[in-house]
Amino acid sequence: MFSKVLIANRGEIAARIIETCKKLGIASVAVYSEADAGAPHTELADEAYLVGPAHVTQSYLNMEKILELAKESGCDAIHPGYGLLSENAEFIEAVEAAGITFVGPSSKSVTLMGDKAQAREFAQRAGVPVVPGSEGEIDGEDAAVEFAENFGYPVLVKAAAGGGGIGMKVATKEKKLRKAVAECMRRGESSFGNPAIYLERYVENPRHIEVQVLADKHGNAVHLFERECSVQRRHQKVIEEAPSPFVEKNDGLRQRMTDAALALVRESGYVNAGTVEFIVDADANFYFIEMNTRLQVEHPVTEMITGVDLVELQLRVAAGEALPISQDDLAINGHSVECRIYAENPEKMFMPAPGEIGAYSEPEGEGVRIDSGVKANWKVTPFYDPMVSKVTTHGKDRAEATSRMLGALDDYTIEGLTTNLEMHKLVLNSTEFTEADFHTSWLEGWMKNS
Ligand code: ADP
Repeated sequence: MFSKVLIANRGEIAARIIETCKKLGIASVAVYSEADAGAPHTELADEAYLVGPAHVTQSYLNMEKILELAKESGCDAIHPGYGLLSENAEFIEAVEAAGITFVGPSSKSVTLMGDKAQAREFAQRAGVPVVPGSEGEIDGEDAAVEFAENFGYPVLVKAAAGGGGIGMKVATKEKKLRKAVAECMRRGESSFGNPAIYLERYVENPRHIEVQVLADKHGNAVHLFERECSVQRRHQKVIEEAPSPFVEKNDGLRQRMTDAALALVRESGYVNAGTVEFIVDADANFYFIEMNTRLQVEHPVTEMITGVDLVELQLRVAAGEALPISQDDLAINGHSVECRIYAENPEKMFMPAPGEIGAYSEPEGEGVRIDSGVKANWKVTPFYDPMVSKVTTHGKDRAEATSRMLGALDDYTIEGLTTNLEMHKLVLNSTEFTEADFHTSWLEGWMKNS
Protein backbone atom coordinates (compact mmCIF):
# COMPACT_ATOMS: atom_id res chain seq x y z
CA MET A 1 0.00 0.00 0.00
CA PHE A 2 1.04 3.60 -0.53
CA SER A 3 2.73 5.57 2.21
CA LYS A 4 1.79 9.09 1.07
CA VAL A 5 -0.92 10.26 -1.34
CA LEU A 6 -1.39 13.70 -2.90
CA ILE A 7 -5.02 14.64 -3.46
CA ALA A 8 -5.21 16.74 -6.63
CA ASN A 9 -8.57 18.26 -5.79
CA ARG A 10 -10.39 20.56 -3.41
CA GLY A 11 -13.59 20.86 -1.38
CA GLU A 12 -15.67 17.97 -0.15
CA ILE A 13 -14.09 15.31 -2.34
CA ALA A 14 -10.56 16.16 -1.20
CA ALA A 15 -11.76 15.97 2.41
CA ARG A 16 -13.50 12.63 1.76
CA ILE A 17 -10.38 11.07 0.22
CA ILE A 18 -8.20 12.32 3.09
CA GLU A 19 -10.56 10.60 5.57
CA THR A 20 -9.93 7.22 3.95
CA CYS A 21 -6.17 7.86 3.82
CA LYS A 22 -6.27 8.48 7.57
CA LYS A 23 -8.25 5.29 8.13
CA LEU A 24 -5.64 3.31 6.19
CA GLY A 25 -2.67 5.01 7.88
CA ILE A 26 -1.58 6.72 4.65
CA ALA A 27 -0.14 10.24 4.94
CA SER A 28 -2.09 12.81 2.90
CA VAL A 29 -0.95 15.87 0.99
CA ALA A 30 -3.46 18.56 0.03
CA VAL A 31 -2.98 21.22 -2.61
CA TYR A 32 -4.82 24.53 -2.63
CA SER A 33 -5.20 27.67 -4.68
CA GLU A 34 -4.83 31.19 -3.30
CA ALA A 35 -8.64 31.36 -3.06
CA ASP A 36 -8.63 28.19 -0.94
CA ALA A 37 -5.97 29.15 1.63
CA GLY A 38 -7.29 27.89 4.97
CA ALA A 39 -9.94 25.67 3.35
CA PRO A 40 -11.15 22.67 5.40
CA HIS A 41 -9.41 20.14 3.13
CA THR A 42 -6.06 21.80 3.80
CA GLU A 43 -6.64 21.59 7.56
CA LEU A 44 -7.52 17.90 7.42
CA ALA A 45 -4.47 16.81 5.43
CA ASP A 46 -1.09 16.03 7.00
CA GLU A 47 0.59 18.51 4.65
CA ALA A 48 -0.80 21.23 2.38
CA TYR A 49 0.88 23.20 -0.38
CA LEU A 50 -0.12 26.25 -2.38
CA VAL A 51 -0.42 25.33 -6.05
CA GLY A 52 -1.19 28.72 -7.62
CA PRO A 53 -3.70 31.54 -8.17
CA ALA A 54 -7.46 31.05 -7.92
CA HIS A 55 -8.22 30.29 -11.56
CA VAL A 56 -8.25 26.52 -12.11
CA THR A 57 -5.94 26.64 -15.11
CA GLN A 58 -3.28 28.16 -12.85
CA SER A 59 -3.95 25.94 -9.85
CA TYR A 60 -5.94 22.69 -9.80
CA LEU A 61 -5.33 22.11 -13.51
CA ASN A 62 -1.64 23.00 -13.35
CA MET A 63 -0.24 19.52 -14.05
CA GLU A 64 3.46 20.42 -13.85
CA LYS A 65 3.12 22.16 -10.51
CA ILE A 66 0.98 19.41 -8.97
CA LEU A 67 3.42 16.77 -10.12
CA GLU A 68 6.35 18.78 -8.79
CA LEU A 69 4.64 19.06 -5.38
CA ALA A 70 3.96 15.31 -5.36
CA LYS A 71 7.62 14.57 -6.06
CA GLU A 72 8.97 17.13 -3.59
CA SER A 73 6.73 15.88 -0.80
CA GLY A 74 7.63 12.23 -1.48
CA CYS A 75 4.19 10.96 -2.54
CA ASP A 76 3.92 7.54 -4.14
CA ALA A 77 0.39 8.09 -5.50
CA ILE A 78 -1.96 10.84 -6.65
CA HIS A 79 -5.74 10.62 -6.20
CA PRO A 80 -7.49 12.99 -8.61
CA GLY A 81 -11.01 12.97 -7.08
CA TYR A 82 -13.62 13.90 -9.69
CA GLY A 83 -13.61 16.68 -12.30
CA LEU A 84 -10.39 18.71 -12.72
CA LEU A 85 -7.56 16.34 -13.79
CA SER A 86 -9.40 13.09 -13.04
CA GLU A 87 -10.09 12.21 -16.67
CA ASN A 88 -7.04 13.80 -18.26
CA ALA A 89 -4.98 11.18 -20.11
CA GLU A 90 -1.98 13.50 -20.50
CA PHE A 91 -1.87 13.98 -16.73
CA ILE A 92 -2.11 10.25 -16.07
CA GLU A 93 0.80 9.62 -18.43
CA ALA A 94 2.90 12.34 -16.80
CA VAL A 95 2.16 10.94 -13.33
CA GLU A 96 3.10 7.40 -14.32
CA ALA A 97 6.22 8.63 -16.17
CA ALA A 98 7.33 10.28 -12.92
CA GLY A 99 7.13 6.88 -11.19
CA ILE A 100 4.03 7.84 -9.19
CA THR A 101 0.82 5.78 -9.25
CA PHE A 102 -2.35 7.40 -10.54
CA VAL A 103 -5.34 6.24 -8.48
CA GLY A 104 -7.66 5.53 -11.37
CA PRO A 105 -7.78 3.74 -14.70
CA SER A 106 -5.08 3.71 -17.37
CA SER A 107 -4.67 6.64 -19.76
CA LYS A 108 -5.78 4.25 -22.51
CA SER A 109 -9.17 3.66 -20.84
CA VAL A 110 -9.58 7.35 -20.12
CA THR A 111 -8.84 8.22 -23.76
CA LEU A 112 -11.27 5.60 -25.07
CA MET A 113 -14.15 6.59 -22.79
CA GLY A 114 -13.34 10.32 -22.91
CA ASP A 115 -14.33 10.40 -26.56
CA LYS A 116 -18.04 9.70 -26.27
CA ALA A 117 -18.44 8.91 -29.98
CA GLN A 118 -15.66 6.33 -29.76
CA ALA A 119 -17.02 4.95 -26.48
CA ARG A 120 -20.41 4.44 -28.16
CA GLU A 121 -18.86 2.43 -30.96
CA PHE A 122 -16.88 0.39 -28.48
CA ALA A 123 -20.01 -0.30 -26.39
CA GLN A 124 -21.86 -1.50 -29.48
CA ARG A 125 -19.04 -3.90 -30.27
CA ALA A 126 -19.23 -5.19 -26.68
CA GLY A 127 -22.93 -5.90 -27.23
CA VAL A 128 -24.11 -3.06 -24.99
CA PRO A 129 -27.19 -1.23 -26.33
CA VAL A 130 -26.54 2.45 -27.17
CA VAL A 131 -28.99 5.24 -28.00
CA PRO A 132 -29.63 4.96 -31.73
CA GLY A 133 -27.73 7.68 -33.59
CA SER A 134 -24.90 8.45 -35.95
CA GLU A 135 -22.16 5.95 -36.67
CA GLY A 136 -19.27 7.78 -35.09
CA GLU A 137 -18.67 11.48 -35.61
CA ILE A 138 -20.69 13.75 -37.88
CA ASP A 139 -18.75 16.08 -40.13
CA GLY A 140 -20.42 19.50 -39.76
CA GLU A 141 -23.86 21.06 -40.32
CA ASP A 142 -24.74 19.67 -43.76
CA ALA A 143 -23.86 16.12 -42.78
CA ALA A 144 -25.91 16.49 -39.59
CA VAL A 145 -28.95 17.71 -41.55
CA GLU A 146 -28.63 14.89 -44.05
CA PHE A 147 -28.42 12.36 -41.23
CA ALA A 148 -31.39 13.81 -39.32
CA GLU A 149 -33.61 13.96 -42.44
CA ASN A 150 -33.32 10.19 -42.74
CA PHE A 151 -33.17 9.42 -39.03
CA GLY A 152 -35.96 11.72 -37.85
CA TYR A 153 -36.21 14.49 -35.25
CA PRO A 154 -35.79 15.25 -32.37
CA VAL A 155 -32.07 14.61 -32.18
CA LEU A 156 -29.52 15.44 -29.53
CA VAL A 157 -26.25 16.96 -30.74
CA LYS A 158 -23.37 16.04 -28.44
CA ALA A 159 -19.76 17.16 -28.35
CA ALA A 160 -17.63 13.98 -28.43
CA ALA A 161 -15.42 15.38 -25.69
CA GLY A 162 -18.31 16.97 -23.74
CA GLY A 163 -19.07 16.62 -20.05
CA GLY A 164 -20.94 18.35 -17.26
CA GLY A 165 -23.83 19.07 -19.63
CA ILE A 166 -21.56 21.25 -21.77
CA GLY A 167 -21.81 20.79 -25.55
CA MET A 168 -25.23 19.11 -25.66
CA LYS A 169 -28.25 20.55 -27.54
CA VAL A 170 -31.64 19.21 -28.62
CA ALA A 171 -32.86 19.99 -32.16
CA THR A 172 -36.40 19.53 -33.41
CA LYS A 173 -35.94 20.81 -36.98
CA GLU A 174 -33.29 21.77 -39.51
CA LYS A 175 -32.81 25.40 -38.51
CA LYS A 176 -32.35 24.46 -34.86
CA LEU A 177 -30.06 21.59 -35.79
CA ARG A 178 -27.72 23.87 -37.73
CA LYS A 179 -27.54 26.20 -34.74
CA ALA A 180 -27.04 23.29 -32.32
CA VAL A 181 -24.23 21.79 -34.41
CA ALA A 182 -22.39 25.13 -34.61
CA GLU A 183 -22.86 25.71 -30.88
CA CYS A 184 -21.73 22.21 -29.82
CA MET A 185 -18.68 22.35 -32.09
CA ARG A 186 -17.76 25.73 -30.61
CA ARG A 187 -18.29 24.55 -27.01
CA GLY A 188 -16.39 21.32 -27.69
CA GLU A 189 -13.45 23.31 -29.00
CA SER A 190 -13.46 26.04 -26.34
CA SER A 191 -14.07 23.83 -23.29
CA PHE A 192 -12.36 20.57 -24.30
CA GLY A 193 -10.13 21.42 -27.26
CA ASN A 194 -12.09 19.08 -29.56
CA PRO A 195 -14.87 20.24 -31.94
CA ALA A 196 -16.01 16.70 -32.92
CA ILE A 197 -19.75 16.04 -32.55
CA TYR A 198 -22.17 13.15 -32.98
CA LEU A 199 -25.94 12.77 -33.01
CA GLU A 200 -28.26 10.66 -30.88
CA ARG A 201 -31.99 10.19 -30.82
CA TYR A 202 -33.39 12.50 -28.17
CA VAL A 203 -35.15 10.05 -25.87
CA GLU A 204 -38.22 11.81 -24.44
CA ASN A 205 -38.43 11.83 -20.67
CA PRO A 206 -35.95 9.06 -19.85
CA ARG A 207 -34.64 8.08 -16.46
CA HIS A 208 -30.91 8.24 -15.72
CA ILE A 209 -29.67 5.02 -14.15
CA GLU A 210 -25.99 4.15 -13.78
CA VAL A 211 -24.00 1.13 -12.64
CA GLN A 212 -20.98 1.40 -10.32
CA VAL A 213 -18.17 -0.94 -11.30
CA LEU A 214 -14.82 -1.79 -9.80
CA ALA A 215 -12.06 -3.89 -11.36
CA ASP A 216 -8.57 -4.87 -10.30
CA LYS A 217 -5.36 -5.56 -12.23
CA HIS A 218 -5.84 -9.34 -11.86
CA GLY A 219 -8.92 -9.66 -14.06
CA ASN A 220 -11.52 -9.48 -11.27
CA ALA A 221 -14.48 -7.14 -11.74
CA VAL A 222 -17.61 -6.53 -9.70
CA HIS A 223 -20.58 -4.19 -9.94
CA LEU A 224 -21.98 -2.41 -6.91
CA PHE A 225 -25.54 -2.22 -8.22
CA GLU A 226 -27.14 0.88 -9.66
CA ARG A 227 -27.89 4.46 -8.72
CA GLU A 228 -30.79 6.46 -10.06
CA CYS A 229 -30.04 10.11 -10.86
CA SER A 230 -33.18 11.25 -12.67
CA VAL A 231 -33.77 14.36 -10.59
CA GLN A 232 -31.72 16.82 -12.65
CA ARG A 233 -31.56 20.41 -13.77
CA ARG A 234 -29.70 21.49 -16.92
CA HIS A 235 -29.00 17.77 -17.54
CA GLN A 236 -27.04 17.68 -14.27
CA LYS A 237 -27.86 15.62 -11.18
CA VAL A 238 -29.32 17.13 -7.98
CA ILE A 239 -30.76 14.14 -6.09
CA GLU A 240 -29.47 10.59 -6.42
CA GLU A 241 -30.52 7.36 -4.81
CA ALA A 242 -29.66 3.69 -4.60
CA PRO A 243 -31.13 1.30 -5.41
CA SER A 244 -33.19 2.69 -8.31
CA PRO A 245 -36.91 2.52 -7.55
CA PHE A 246 -37.52 1.90 -11.27
CA VAL A 247 -35.09 -1.02 -11.42
CA GLU A 248 -36.65 -2.45 -8.27
CA LYS A 249 -40.01 -2.56 -10.03
CA ASN A 250 -38.79 -4.11 -13.29
CA ASP A 251 -37.92 -7.78 -13.06
CA GLY A 252 -34.60 -8.72 -14.60
CA LEU A 253 -33.59 -5.14 -15.39
CA ARG A 254 -30.82 -5.02 -12.78
CA GLN A 255 -29.32 -8.22 -14.10
CA ARG A 256 -29.39 -6.95 -17.70
CA MET A 257 -27.92 -3.54 -16.84
CA THR A 258 -25.17 -4.83 -14.58
CA ASP A 259 -24.28 -7.55 -17.14
CA ALA A 260 -23.95 -4.83 -19.80
CA ALA A 261 -21.79 -2.67 -17.53
CA LEU A 262 -19.48 -5.56 -16.73
CA ALA A 263 -19.25 -6.56 -20.40
CA LEU A 264 -17.93 -3.06 -21.11
CA VAL A 265 -15.42 -3.33 -18.26
CA ARG A 266 -14.16 -6.72 -19.43
CA GLU A 267 -14.01 -5.86 -23.14
CA SER A 268 -12.04 -2.69 -22.46
CA GLY A 269 -9.74 -4.17 -19.81
CA TYR A 270 -10.85 -1.44 -17.45
CA VAL A 271 -9.20 -1.20 -14.02
CA ASN A 272 -10.28 0.76 -10.89
CA ALA A 273 -13.66 2.39 -10.12
CA GLY A 274 -15.92 3.53 -12.93
CA THR A 275 -19.53 4.28 -13.71
CA VAL A 276 -21.44 3.10 -16.74
CA GLU A 277 -24.29 5.53 -17.42
CA PHE A 278 -27.54 4.64 -19.15
CA ILE A 279 -30.78 6.33 -19.99
CA VAL A 280 -33.83 4.15 -19.60
CA ASP A 281 -37.21 4.62 -21.30
CA ALA A 282 -40.65 3.94 -19.80
CA ASP A 283 -40.63 0.43 -21.31
CA ALA A 284 -37.41 -0.42 -19.43
CA ASN A 285 -35.23 -0.32 -22.55
CA PHE A 286 -31.81 0.94 -21.50
CA TYR A 287 -29.17 2.65 -23.61
CA PHE A 288 -25.52 3.35 -22.81
CA ILE A 289 -24.69 7.07 -22.88
CA GLU A 290 -21.18 7.21 -21.44
CA MET A 291 -18.69 5.79 -18.99
CA ASN A 292 -17.18 8.00 -16.32
CA THR A 293 -13.68 6.82 -15.55
CA ARG A 294 -13.46 8.11 -11.99
CA LEU A 295 -15.17 8.30 -8.61
CA GLN A 296 -18.60 9.99 -8.95
CA VAL A 297 -20.01 12.81 -6.84
CA GLU A 298 -22.89 10.50 -5.88
CA HIS A 299 -20.75 7.53 -4.79
CA PRO A 300 -21.90 7.84 -1.11
CA VAL A 301 -25.33 6.32 -1.88
CA THR A 302 -23.59 3.19 -3.15
CA GLU A 303 -21.33 3.12 -0.10
CA MET A 304 -24.32 3.40 2.21
CA ILE A 305 -26.25 0.48 0.71
CA THR A 306 -23.23 -1.81 0.29
CA GLY A 307 -21.04 -0.84 3.25
CA VAL A 308 -18.06 -0.61 0.89
CA ASP A 309 -15.51 2.25 1.07
CA LEU A 310 -14.98 2.94 -2.63
CA VAL A 311 -11.96 5.16 -2.07
CA GLU A 312 -10.27 2.44 -0.03
CA LEU A 313 -10.85 -0.06 -2.83
CA GLN A 314 -9.61 2.44 -5.41
CA LEU A 315 -6.38 2.79 -3.44
CA ARG A 316 -6.00 -0.97 -2.94
CA VAL A 317 -6.58 -1.74 -6.62
CA ALA A 318 -4.20 1.05 -7.70
CA ALA A 319 -1.56 -0.41 -5.37
CA GLY A 320 -1.90 -3.74 -7.21
CA GLU A 321 -3.92 -5.64 -4.60
CA ALA A 322 -6.64 -8.04 -5.72
CA LEU A 323 -10.22 -6.93 -4.99
CA PRO A 324 -10.94 -8.13 -1.44
CA ILE A 325 -14.62 -8.72 -2.34
CA SER A 326 -16.37 -10.89 -4.91
CA GLN A 327 -19.82 -10.36 -6.41
CA ASP A 328 -21.33 -12.82 -3.95
CA ASP A 329 -20.12 -10.72 -1.02
CA LEU A 330 -22.13 -7.74 -2.23
CA ALA A 331 -25.76 -7.17 -1.33
CA ILE A 332 -28.13 -4.22 -1.18
CA ASN A 333 -28.93 -3.17 2.35
CA GLY A 334 -31.86 -0.74 2.62
CA HIS A 335 -32.04 2.47 0.65
CA SER A 336 -29.98 5.63 0.38
CA VAL A 337 -30.68 9.15 -0.93
CA GLU A 338 -28.23 12.00 -1.58
CA CYS A 339 -29.09 15.70 -1.94
CA ARG A 340 -26.52 18.07 -3.36
CA ILE A 341 -26.68 21.41 -1.58
CA TYR A 342 -25.61 24.08 -4.03
CA ALA A 343 -25.15 27.83 -3.68
CA GLU A 344 -27.59 28.54 -6.49
CA ASN A 345 -30.97 30.09 -7.04
CA PRO A 346 -33.65 27.59 -8.13
CA GLU A 347 -35.97 30.49 -8.94
CA LYS A 348 -33.49 32.10 -11.33
CA MET A 349 -32.87 29.14 -13.62
CA PHE A 350 -30.61 27.58 -10.97
CA MET A 351 -27.98 30.29 -11.50
CA PRO A 352 -24.88 29.82 -9.30
CA ALA A 353 -24.99 32.18 -6.31
CA PRO A 354 -21.51 32.26 -4.75
CA GLY A 355 -21.06 34.27 -1.56
CA GLU A 356 -19.80 34.46 2.00
CA ILE A 357 -21.01 31.93 4.54
CA GLY A 358 -21.73 33.23 8.04
CA ALA A 359 -22.93 30.76 10.64
CA TYR A 360 -22.79 27.17 9.43
CA SER A 361 -23.74 23.90 11.00
CA GLU A 362 -24.49 20.47 9.62
CA PRO A 363 -27.08 17.85 10.51
CA GLU A 364 -26.12 14.66 12.27
CA GLY A 365 -27.96 11.59 13.48
CA GLU A 366 -28.69 7.98 12.68
CA GLY A 367 -28.28 7.17 8.99
CA VAL A 368 -27.02 10.67 8.11
CA ARG A 369 -23.71 11.24 6.32
CA ILE A 370 -22.27 14.63 5.43
CA ASP A 371 -19.56 15.26 2.84
CA SER A 372 -18.57 18.87 2.92
CA GLY A 373 -15.71 21.21 2.15
CA VAL A 374 -16.93 24.38 3.84
CA LYS A 375 -17.15 25.76 7.38
CA ALA A 376 -18.52 28.79 9.27
CA ASN A 377 -17.21 32.14 8.03
CA TRP A 378 -16.00 30.53 4.82
CA LYS A 379 -17.12 31.20 1.25
CA VAL A 380 -18.28 29.71 -2.02
CA THR A 381 -16.21 31.44 -4.68
CA PRO A 382 -17.18 31.97 -8.33
CA PHE A 383 -14.01 30.14 -9.38
CA TYR A 384 -15.25 26.62 -8.71
CA ASP A 385 -18.32 24.44 -8.64
CA PRO A 386 -20.85 26.08 -6.27
CA MET A 387 -21.50 22.93 -4.24
CA VAL A 388 -21.65 23.60 -0.51
CA SER A 389 -22.23 20.16 0.91
CA LYS A 390 -23.68 16.75 0.18
CA VAL A 391 -26.06 15.04 2.57
CA THR A 392 -26.69 11.33 2.20
CA THR A 393 -29.13 9.36 4.29
CA HIS A 394 -29.72 5.67 4.73
CA GLY A 395 -32.80 3.83 5.96
CA LYS A 396 -34.32 0.38 5.91
CA ASP A 397 -36.37 1.46 2.89
CA ARG A 398 -36.90 4.48 0.61
CA ALA A 399 -39.51 6.03 2.89
CA GLU A 400 -37.18 5.93 5.90
CA ALA A 401 -34.20 7.27 3.95
CA THR A 402 -36.39 10.13 2.64
CA SER A 403 -37.79 10.96 6.04
CA ARG A 404 -34.27 11.03 7.51
CA MET A 405 -33.28 13.32 4.65
CA LEU A 406 -36.12 15.73 5.41
CA GLY A 407 -35.02 15.82 9.05
CA ALA A 408 -31.41 16.39 8.04
CA LEU A 409 -32.27 19.22 5.64
CA ASP A 410 -34.16 20.95 8.46
CA ASP A 411 -31.07 20.75 10.65
CA TYR A 412 -28.72 22.66 8.31
CA THR A 413 -27.75 26.22 9.14
CA ILE A 414 -26.15 27.97 6.17
CA GLU A 415 -26.28 31.71 6.76
CA GLY A 416 -25.44 34.25 4.08
CA LEU A 417 -25.95 32.07 1.00
CA THR A 418 -28.82 31.47 -1.37
CA THR A 419 -29.05 27.68 -1.64
CA ASN A 420 -31.33 25.00 -3.04
CA LEU A 421 -32.03 23.66 0.47
CA GLU A 422 -35.72 24.62 0.45
CA MET A 423 -36.15 23.24 -3.07
CA HIS A 424 -34.90 19.85 -1.87
CA LYS A 425 -37.56 19.79 0.84
CA LEU A 426 -40.32 20.64 -1.64
CA VAL A 427 -39.11 17.98 -4.04
CA LEU A 428 -38.86 15.26 -1.36
CA ASN A 429 -42.39 16.08 -0.21
CA SER A 430 -43.87 15.99 -3.74
CA THR A 431 -46.11 13.15 -4.86
CA GLU A 432 -43.85 12.54 -7.86
CA PHE A 433 -40.79 12.00 -5.68
CA THR A 434 -42.69 9.93 -3.14
CA GLU A 435 -43.97 7.68 -5.89
CA ALA A 436 -40.65 7.83 -7.80
CA ASP A 437 -42.68 8.94 -10.79
CA PHE A 438 -40.07 11.19 -12.44
CA HIS A 439 -37.68 11.52 -15.37
CA THR A 440 -34.69 13.70 -16.24
CA SER A 441 -36.81 16.71 -17.36
CA TRP A 442 -39.31 16.45 -14.52
CA LEU A 443 -37.68 18.81 -11.98
CA GLU A 444 -37.37 21.84 -14.26
CA GLY A 445 -40.98 21.55 -15.43
CA TRP A 446 -42.24 20.98 -11.89
CA MET A 447 -40.32 24.01 -10.55
CA LYS A 448 -41.89 26.24 -13.22
CA ASN A 449 -45.37 25.10 -12.29
CA SER A 450 -45.07 25.21 -8.52
P1 ADP B 1 -22.52 14.89 -19.64
O1 ADP B 1 -21.29 14.02 -19.78
O2 ADP B 1 -22.36 16.23 -20.26
O3 ADP B 1 -23.06 14.93 -18.25
P2 ADP B 1 -24.27 12.72 -20.52
O4 ADP B 1 -24.10 12.06 -21.85
O5 ADP B 1 -23.80 11.98 -19.32
O6 ADP B 1 -23.62 14.18 -20.57
O7 ADP B 1 -25.80 13.07 -20.32
C1 ADP B 1 -26.24 13.86 -19.23
C2 ADP B 1 -27.76 13.86 -19.17
O8 ADP B 1 -28.30 14.32 -20.41
C3 ADP B 1 -28.42 12.51 -18.97
O9 ADP B 1 -28.47 12.16 -17.62
C4 ADP B 1 -29.80 12.78 -19.52
O10 ADP B 1 -30.56 13.57 -18.63
C5 ADP B 1 -29.50 13.64 -20.72
N1 ADP B 1 -29.32 12.85 -21.96
C6 ADP B 1 -28.15 12.39 -22.47
N2 ADP B 1 -28.34 11.73 -23.64
C7 ADP B 1 -29.67 11.78 -23.89
C8 ADP B 1 -30.52 11.31 -24.95
N3 ADP B 1 -30.03 10.68 -26.02
N4 ADP B 1 -31.84 11.59 -24.88
C9 ADP B 1 -32.36 12.26 -23.82
N5 ADP B 1 -31.62 12.73 -22.80
C10 ADP B 1 -30.30 12.50 -22.82
